[in-house]
Amino acid sequence: MNTIDYLRISLLDRCNFRCQYCMPEGTELDYILRQDLLTRAEIITLLKEVFIPLGFCKFRLTGGEPLLRPDLVDIVSQIASLPQTRDLSLTTNGFLLVDLAQKLYDAGLRRINISLDSLNPQTFDNIIGNRGRTRWDKTWAGILAAYRVGFNPLKLNVVIIPGLNDGEILDLAALTIERNWHVRFIEFMPIGNGKLFSDLATRGSEADRAWIPSAELRERIASRWGLEESQVKGNGPADVWQIPGAKGTLGFISQMSECFCDRCNRMRLSADGWLRPCLLNQTGQIDLKTALRSGSDPQDLRAKVAEILLLKPEINYKQRDSGTLAGSYTRTMSQIGG
Ligand code: SAM
Ligand code: SF4
Repeated sequence: MNTIDYLRISLLDRCNFRCQYCMPEGTELDYILRQDLLTRAEIITLLKEVFIPLGFCKFRLTGGEPLLRPDLVDIVSQIASLPQTRDLSLTTNGFLLVDLAQKLYDAGLRRINISLDSLNPQTFDNIIGNRGRTRWDKTWAGILAAYRVGFNPLKLNVVIIPGLNDGEILDLAALTIERNWHVRFIEFMPIGNGKLFSDLATRGSEADRAWIPSAELRERIASRWGLEESQVKGNGPADVWQIPGAKGTLGFISQMSECFCDRCNRMRLSADGWLRPCLLNQTGQIDLKTALRSGSDPQDLRAKVAEILLLKPEINYKQRDSGTLAGSYTRTMSQIGG
């Protein structure tokens, strides 16, 4: 059985962007009330008393936008200083990184993923739902700040959406040629903005579709520069490739075109304390925050989580076996903790 030792911790569900594929402008979301967010102390208690004793040692902070959380640097510092933490990383949209990159590094963070779907400010603003002064410059400056500070590997997450940014596949891949950056293409999932997904897929022509399979992205990149499998292997679901001679690498996360449930090593903790074994279905989720606040013994919580760990392989395959990967999901990535 796969070792499940990786916890993705959502710090809040709010965001300063409105990405079309995640939580577009106009979406009615029931945001978690401030008093319902797990506090820093509760997160640390859950790690120390529940997850670490069960073997979890890799943690990723995400959201919503984790850089909006006022106590982020302290959270990083406390998790980084737990002796059992083997890996701590963060996923962000990068907009607030210019001011925070150095502080996060000093607090002990060494790995960061920044989402960047376009190198063109207009396209970028269109995707993130920005109507004012462009936000691309500040996001790019945040990426460069993280690079300067020493985040290594610096990873960029890209979601390619046909008709929005599919003309930039080569430009985004080319970022890895001169710099030791890792650009990861994530297939667009019908989670969050299911309407965009179905609109794209049913525009009228038979060729219309909402997402581009990783294999096709690889073909396009290979026909320009060639492509070889990288010696650098991640510990996650990405297949890692490299443009020959490039300093950086390319990752492909193919959750739509390929089932990698058998490689899944993770669980998700939502910002309001729900533990979710699988991104794509709600089976087995439990409310750890309410249990903690009502005085449950952490040992009992640990026993419950241990039970879920045993069920996880079965829970993972539930979605695959139901064949409904392209169904619609009521919670967005920002709510679950992408
Ligand atoms: N706000 C941060 C960010 O954007 O990096 C962290 C949270 S965001 C939910 C985490 C990742 O999920 C981002 O890289 C984003 O591109 C990805 N994501 C969100 N909705 C998605 C969808 N429907 N399909 C594929 N990836 C998605
Ligand atoms: Fe915000 Fe990240 Fe979702 Fe974009 S993908 S809306 S930045 S949470």
